[in-house]
Amino acid sequence: RKQVGKLKTGSNALDELLGGGVETQSITEFYGEFGSGKTQVAHQLAVKVQLPPEEGGLGGSVIMIDTENTFRPERIAQMVKGLKGGEDLDPEEFLKNIHVARAYNSNHQILLVESASELAEKMRDSDRPVKLIIVDSLTAHFRSEYVGRGTLADRQQKLNKHMHDLMRFGDINNAAIVVTNQVQAKPDAFFGDPTRPIGGHIVGHTATFRLYLRKSKGEKRIARLVDSPNLPEGEAIFSVTTEGLRD
Ligand code: ATP
Ligand code: MG
Repeated sequence: RKQVGKLKTGSNALDELLGGGVETQSITEFYGEFGSGKTQVAHQLAVKVQLPPEEGGLGGSVIMIDTENTFRPERIAQMVKGLKGGEDLDPEEFLKNIHVARAYNSNHQILLVESASELAEKMRDSDRPVKLIIVDSLTAHFRSEYVGRGTLADRQQKLNKHMHDLMRFGDINNAAIVVTNQVQAKPDAFFGDPTRPIGGHIVGHTATFRLYLRKSKGEKRIARLVDSPNLPEGEAIFSVTTEGLRD
């Protein structure tokens, strides 16, 4: 097993909650309702991963599987400008290292991990190996395509395979894996508990770190680490600002 790398988020509180940052060779799931900041975290990590380790990054590039068409280059530019010394940095240089792939449905989403593996293999010995793969959102397509009780087992099986493919990607490339997952804002007759993430148990048991995000006042967000095998449960408060994630 290669040495686990840690990717900093921009918030010291959030890094501490994660035991130093988002780990490579693990799946980190951010789940929460709409507007809780999942896509913001994804954008921030896509920028940060490109920094050298001494600045909290992994010196790598990133593959972003975008299922809801929410990737925004302009947002990346704002976050680059928000880095230390950012006024002298060129956002285009950062955008070059973010490989965005739109997933049109759940099968396509699963296939994109294969393409991602091929790309990562090609780049392994370059100066920009792929060090992060993001799936934002992991579950949206599955949720809309598999409706009703009869299809649930099938959905879980597909999601399970997808998670294992991602885990393998992380192992082979010593890369971090970040996925997002929405929860119902209000209790739902079928899903019940509003804080229960979509995908339920299978996603839950494959993800190594699970963070439940919720909105607080203004820019403030609260992250709660949920059932981690090796870290204490706890909460961190961070902010989503124009410059990016902050304490
Ligand atoms: P969904 O489940 O709908 O995908 P999400 O958890 O991905 O939601 P985000 O898109 O990450 O939610 O969060 C949106 C919020 O992020 C906005 O409501 C705003 O508070 C904040 N935000 C977005 N863009 C900026 C910006 N340029 N500057 C400051 N804050 C921003
Ligand atoms: Mg989002």
